[in-house]
Amino acid sequence: MTGKVYLVGSGPGDPELLTVKARRLLEEADVVLHDKLPGPEIIELVPEARREDVGKRAGGEWTPQEYTNRRLVELANEGKTVVRLKGGDPFVFGRGGEEMEHLAANEIPFEYVPGITAGIAGPGAAGIPVTHRDHNSSVSFVTGHEDPEKDESAVDWGALAATGGTLVVYMGVGKLPEYTRALRDAGMDPDTPVALIERATWPDQRVAVGTLDTIVAVRDEMEIAPPAITVIGEVAATRERVVEFMEGR
Ligand code: SAH
Repeated sequence: MTGKVYLVGSGPGDPELLTVKARRLLEEADVVLHDKLPGPEIIELVPEARREDVGKRAGGEWTPQEYTNRRLVELANEGKTVVRLKGGDPFVFGRGGEEMEHLAANEIPFEYVPGITAGIAGPGAAGIPVTHRDHNSSVSFVTGHEDPEKDESAVDWGALAATGGTLVVYMGVGKLPEYTRALRDAGMDPDTPVALIERATWPDQRVAVGTLDTIVAVRDEMEIAPPAITVIGEVAATRERVVEFMEGR
């Protein structure tokens, strides 16, 4: 009997933000394949004997995607109930799409379990709504770190600047200098508010705020490191008006 694979989103990191379904599946699964992104609190909910880390290995090397794909099929073919646990939502910059296609190509039954993506929950946890009637009517989710093998940037920063909407950048710590410059070059106001939310909803969440002009210096000063989400736009200034009264993590 073939098992089944659940592609499960963990949400941004606070275990209470797991869906009820994700929580149940973590308890019931024979094996949980995960990387570091769900955060230590969620990973530790799963007994060590039932988890496999397919994230960064000692020495800084990534487990190849092919290995993860192969392992999912192998475990399902052994009849196992497998949870492929991903930070945020599996289908937002998480390679969940590729894994799903691989499962289907190998005739493995699977189910998708959405999670709250960091691009919404991260800004929100810092008091920044990604949309706000007074400020914008669109929001774009973008990767700041593309596949290094791509020759040309598939992200058109000029076109994004022209939307006038909020920009939310995933994997955008390292390339912050490049894309903030590209946005300024495209005519975006250098005083546009920008925030970086590091380890959003984790116990040690930190928030850095600045403008398109200053945020790189703030990042360096605070030594902001991944995982962190970048939010660019007038909405980022909301934080200072509410943070005093904002409770929770
Ligand atoms: N599937 C995930 C995104 C994976 S890409 C999701 O839907 O959230 C990895 C990037 O997600 C990180 O580089 C960071 O930009 C963002 N991210 C994920 N979890 C985060 C968190 N708790 N705090 C801040 N950023 C986070």
